[in-house]
Amino acid sequence: MAKYAMAIDLNYCIGCYNCQIACKDEHVGNEYPSITKPQPTFGHFWMSIQEIERVYSPSNIEVVYIPTPCRHCDDPACMKAAKDGAVYKREDGIVIIDPEKAKGQRGLVEACPYGSIYWNEEEEIPQKCTFCAHLLDDGWKEPRCVQSCPVSCMVFGDLDDPESKISKFLEGKDAEALEPEKGTQPNVKYLGLPKPCLAGTVIFGDKDECAKGVSVFLEGKDGSRRETETDFFGDFTFDNIQKAQYRIGFEARGYRGRSVDFDMAADELYLGEIILDPA
Ligand code: SF4
Ligand code: SF4
Repeated sequence: MAKYAMAIDLNYCIGCYNCQIACKDEHVGNEYPSITKPQPTFGHFWMSIQEIERVYSPSNIEVVYIPTPCRHCDDPACMKAAKDGAVYKREDGIVIIDPEKAKGQRGLVEACPYGSIYWNEEEEIPQKCTFCAHLLDDGWKEPRCVQSCPVSCMVFGDLDDPESKISKFLEGKDAEALEPEKGTQPNVKYLGLPKPCLAGTVIFGDKDECAKGVSVFLEGKDGSRRETETDFFGDFTFDNIQKAQYRIGFEARGYRGRSVDFDMAADELYLGEIILDPA
């Protein structure tokens, strides 16, 4: 039997929301008996898209888009919370909320640690992404969201089949789950998840202008060291760093060196403007 999963490469996602719209096109006003009732027109985002801002400098802000459907977990919290077997996992790994048995079980909305379950007020049922199980049962190879992605950054398939599109796509890559600490063993995997990053802007104090080509080093308490250079705008970035204590230093010919100790506690930190004075 198959073990369906989805992989999303965030390096290529352009935040077009096609996947979300395709989900609505497939489910709003359409009922798929035994799988799901119609999705309401408003308020439900079975394919939800998180937008994470990365502040590299006040003039350089990047947005990372993270499409997040139900993760069809191997250890689903929703299934544990359901009464009368109202949530079950199919043999192909898809987690389904039974639209009849789940009637009135509003508590299931809170049971999902990722907020992937929505309450349908009219039908009085909890609902979520089904991986378009009705289409897969009809012979489709992928859900509507995956089919609609204009940059093909979403890949769907059977993880148990080494020849499947998703198995080949993930081969040799370090795909990760979002929020793995929730412990539900998600089957939606990501490439390019944003990591803690540090940024700042260096200014030559005597000229009050952006300091291009300044050497910047970052030293960890564990002895690690990374180096970079400021760009044309005096900006520098260190991506994918650990949350820990660091010393950052700046060196430029003709200017007094500077160093600053700081605690990297947040997912991103913009150190602001660092002024270098002439030597
Ligand atoms: S993501 Fe939430 S709703 Fe989906 S299977 Fe996991 S626990 Fe259940
Ligand atoms: S359709 Fe593709 S590119 Fe557009 S938001 Fe969804 S995953 Fe990103």
